[in-house]
Formats: sequence, C-alpha cells, structure tokens
Amino acid sequence: MPHTIQEIQDELRSANTNIVDAQSAAEGAANSSEEAYSNASCAQESADEAANYAEEAESYIRSVLEMLDAGIEVESSNNDFIEPLSLLNEKVTAIAALVNDALTALNGILLDINNQHLPLDPNTFKVTHKIKDLETRIGSLSKPSKMPCHGYSLPAQACSRGALLRQIEGSVCSACYALKNRYLFKNVQTALYKRLDAVLQDPNEWSVLITELIDKKEKSGYFRWHDSGDIQNLEHLSALNKVALNLPHIKFWLPTRETSLLKSWVDLTSNTFADNLNIRVSASMVNQKPANPTHKNLTTTKSSVGYEQASFHCPALSQGNQCGTCRACWSKQVPIVNYKLH
Ligand code: SF4
Repeated sequence: MPHTIQEIQDELRSANTNIVDAQSAAEGAANSSEEAYSNASCAQESADEAANYAEEAESYIRSVLEMLDAGIEVESSNNDFIEPLSLLNEKVTAIAALVNDALTALNGILLDINNQHLPLDPNTFKVTHKIKDLETRIGSLSKPSKMPCHGYSLPAQACSRGALLRQIEGSVCSACYALKNRYLFKNVQTALYKRLDAVLQDPNEWSVLITELIDKKEKSGYFRWHDSGDIQNLEHLSALNKVALNLPHIKFWLPTRETSLLKSWVDLTSNTFADNLNIRVSASMVNQKPANPTHKNLTTTKSSVGYEQASFHCPALSQGNQCGTCRACWSKQVPIVNYKLH
C-alpha cells in the first residue's frame, strides 16, 4: 500500500495513463470494426457482380464451344467473348484487395482484444479504490444464500438467447426464476441495471474495477458469475476471462447459454479461456441432455435441468438448499451437473 503523497500521486498518474490507453484501444476497436464491416459489405457486392460476369463469360464460352462443335468458324476478334473475361479478372482483383483491407481491419480488432487479454499488474490495481467507491461505480456483488461465495448478477431481461427461449414452452427459460418474486422489486431491478450499464459502458474499465472488488471481498477462493443474466457481447466475455486471468487464486464458474459468443471469441482471438474459469453451458430444454457446443479450442462443461440420466445431480436440495462442501459447478472434472426444476 502507498504511504507517501508522492507514491499516491504516482499511482494516480499510472491509473490515468491506463485509462487513456484503455479508451484509445476501445475507440480503435470500434473504428476498426466499422471499417471491417464496410469492407466486408463492399467485398460482398463486388463478389455478387463478379458472379454475374462469370455467368456471362460462361455462357459466351459455351456458345463458342457449340459453334466449334457445329463446325462453324469463330472469329478470333470476337470481343464479346474477351470483354467479360477481362472484366471478371478486374473484379476478382478488386475483391482480393477488399478482402485484404477487411483482414487488416480485423487484425486491428484482434490486437486490441489480445492487448486487453493481458492480466493486470497486481501491484497497481489493489491500491486504487475503497470497496464503497467500487460498489458505487459498478454495483455490489450478490451473495446467493445457497452458495459458498459471492456472485454478480445482471437483469434476466437482457439475456439475448434467454429472450428467445422464454417464448418456447418446456425450455429452461420459460419459467425463469430471475423474472419472478424478489427479482422484480424496484430496488433489485435498479441494482441489476446499474451493473448492466457498467458492463456495457466500458467493459475494459469494468474488468479492472470488478477485479479489485472481487479481490477485496471474496475470501472463499470461488466466485459465481450471473446468478441471473448472461454474457452480453464479445467485449463482456473478454472482460470476464480477463478477471479470471487477473485473479488466478479464485475459481470462477460462468453458466451461460450464449454458445455462439463462445465460438466467435475462440475464432477471433485464437486464445483459450483461463484455466480457473469453468464455462458451463446450460441445456436449452428441460429434461434433455445438454447439446455439445463442438468447436476446436473450445472446452466447456455443461448443465441440465431434470435430465435424470446425468451422471451427477446437484445435492443442494438434500442438504438444506446449500452447496455445503460441494463445488461440482466449478469443477472441469464434472462434465454435466443436473439440477432439479425450480
Ligand atoms: S452442484 Fe454442488 S456446487 Fe453446484 S449448485 Fe449444486 S451443490 Fe452447489
């Protein structure tokens, strides 16, 4: 901990530099992503145009071949035949250039994500804030009564895949517990949306602040993400992974239904998730075996609801609705955890 004014000033200066760096990385990522999107759309348009030329060229070639087959002499100066081929060539070259630009822009995004993937220096983040200040900025941690540790919950109304599943009878989200009872109290909703705002406004800054808050408050060695809510976007997923990298002494359990985001993250970054982060993909339907989100470099565990054939069943209900000594949800050695329907 710093003791002198000089040390505190140094800490503040370095915090400021980090914030400026984080801001410019975020702006860079936003610009690059717009550029990549626009190049990809241009490439698509040119590809469509090239396909038309290719079709035209093919039909000319076919008619020339038919003429040759029929013994009709073909004039060597047949410009109608040569023109579409040269236009096709031009278009293919233009597409290659656009694809190249799109790749350059995407590489810029990857660089930003990979930079944000680096863990923090523990000597700089521990000294910055008081717990109260952190809670004012990003909301407080939750303390589910069943769990041995803290959690962090977001509004279930903001679940992207959950919003679709809620419309389907028999899905695990159709009777979502986080859209009932105390979750709907005004003060609870306000707290949930405050956390969501902090995550969405600046995921990189949020990851720094939540790292500090968890480090200060969580002494059990375990942490549960999202007792309600789910991953919001790729930046949020990157931030969750970064928090695990920052705090290797804590095991994180991340239940999710957002398998597309997991796959995209692995594709985009070529990184693997932190060793101490157990991503447990939840089944979509009650009584069913959870699907396997197969993808190279993506390893997850799974959970189900009411799937009797599962090899492991949550024992909480038979032990006073408490985890007790069980830590199965955090363990990568337990491939499926089955829960009773709420
Ligand atoms: S499986 Fe174990 S760790 Fe997971 S919720 Fe049930 S009791 Fe808790």
